[in-house]
Amino acid sequence: MNEIILLKNGEIALKGLNRSVFEDKLINNARRRLTDLGKFGFRKAQSTIYVEPKEENIDLDEAVERLQKVYGIIALTKAAVVEKDFEAIKHTAVTYLKDELLEAKTFKVDAKRSDKSFPLKSPQICAELGGYILENFPHLTVDVHNPDVTVVVEVRDFAAYIHGKQLPGAGGIPVGSGGRALLLLSGGIDSPVAGAMMAKRGLEVFAIHFASPPYTSERAKQKVISLAEKMTAYCGRINLFVVPFTEIQEHIRDDCPEELFTIIMRRYMMRIACRIARQSDCEALVTGESVGQVASQTIQAMNCTDAVADMPVLRPVVGMDKEEIVQIAHKIDTFETSILPYEDCCTVFTPKHPKTKPVMKFVEQAEAVMDMEGLIQRAVNNTETIKINR
Ligand code: ATP
Ligand code: MG
Repeated sequence: MNEIILLKNGEIALKGLNRSVFEDKLINNARRRLTDLGKFGFRKAQSTIYVEPKEENIDLDEAVERLQKVYGIIALTKAAVVEKDFEAIKHTAVTYLKDELLEAKTFKVDAKRSDKSFPLKSPQICAELGGYILENFPHLTVDVHNPDVTVVVEVRDFAAYIHGKQLPGAGGIPVGSGGRALLLLSGGIDSPVAGAMMAKRGLEVFAIHFASPPYTSERAKQKVISLAEKMTAYCGRINLFVVPFTEIQEHIRDDCPEELFTIIMRRYMMRIACRIARQSDCEALVTGESVGQVASQTIQAMNCTDAVADMPVLRPVVGMDKEEIVQIAHKIDTFETSILPYEDCCTVFTPKHPKTKPVMKFVEQAEAVMDMEGLIQRAVNNTETIKINR
């Protein structure tokens, strides 16, 4: 029996004239995610995308699992492809959905007929197929309001498709349809979640990581690369920029009042991130900050860091509890990597008593003694780019 995968668009359906642009983006993203599984054909019709395997022995279950992580899909299912002959449809329905129907107590049939030349109309398909299913599975009863299984028959241009229960998709909007943003990716729990949340809203995500060797190790950097690799399941390909941050941190340590280390360091991160963002066509920054979580995450501190950014700084987890963030980290499968115990540049030279309410004037005075432009230029020039394609 031939099988295909049907994808139901979610919010894309709301996009009016841009709809086909969004659909094409979604198809491209889905296609890329499946490339190494084999050849697939993609066709779109009526809020549905048909994903057809074009080779023998393609692992469709793996394909479904990957597609469940592609933003822009509200629901998906495997479906049997049948010739447009009612006898064939009946037989296929009871064999293809046998396991689901055996487990269920109630069912209904839902028929969609876009090929108006098909001899049975939708209500007739429902009635006749419903009767045939009842004959074959006498333990079932029909429940049109809240059935355990809905047997869906779609009679389309080229064939008929039969499927049962749909699986939930990842929702959201296709990655890349809203532009590109640069995520400040630490090794922690919050920033990968922040990146995935913005990808869900249609942004392509690039990432920037600040590393301070030898204070931070090669393994800490590898951890960030692993995190970015994990994120590709939801975000698609990611360019990861690794910025050498040691020189800047040493200067801050030597030249600035200790209680301002953290805020000044974060302002350097913002400035450098903005430059790298412009160079790589990113139009916003994304961080994993959440109000009140640590000393540098007060609104006064955020005000001081935003002051040096010349593009929007998106903080999708800003109002979330750690517990809520952790839940999403589990869902996107970054949690286990995030909790590996490697050092981050933020934990190097941490002051004992960081200012929780930094005053901009004093921060600016402290920074004035440094060769800011030279430090930033060297860091940007020596930034390494790692392309993470999966
Ligand atoms: P996370 O769990 O994302 O590390 P956190 O709760 O540990 O966050 P901080 O360490 O204060 O909080 O960092 C706040 C945000 O700053 C991070 O979410 C991340 O966006 C950014 N950030 C921190 N350290 C780095 C780094 N070394 N490289 C890039 N971005 C960083
Ligand atoms: Mg952190």
